[in-house]
Amino acid sequence: MSEPKDFKYTETNGIPVCPICQIPTRRLGGVGTTTLMHFPPLYDENGVNINPNRNTSTCSYNCLKCGKSFGVSGNGYDSYKYSGL
Ligand SMILES: [Zn+2]
Repeated sequence: MSEPKDFKYTETNGIPVCPICQIPTRRLGGVGTTTLMHFPPLYDENGVNINPNRNTSTCSYNCLKCGKSFGVSGNGYDSYKYSGL
């Protein structure tokens, strides 16, 4: 089994893969937090928001297959990564 912290964040159809099992598993969501920086939308001439909300969301999960907990943090613009392993 590889070290979870070396396991790159992976998702399948938007579902985070358990970093220990390394497959999508049944998981129980825990408490989530989100940073609260203000990102006022800034639209360019084409109406595209060039200042997207880049607050970081962190959510913990408990894998019901291996019983280990892991966190996923990031946002839709930067990449997500595992945390709290
Ligand atoms: Zn697991």
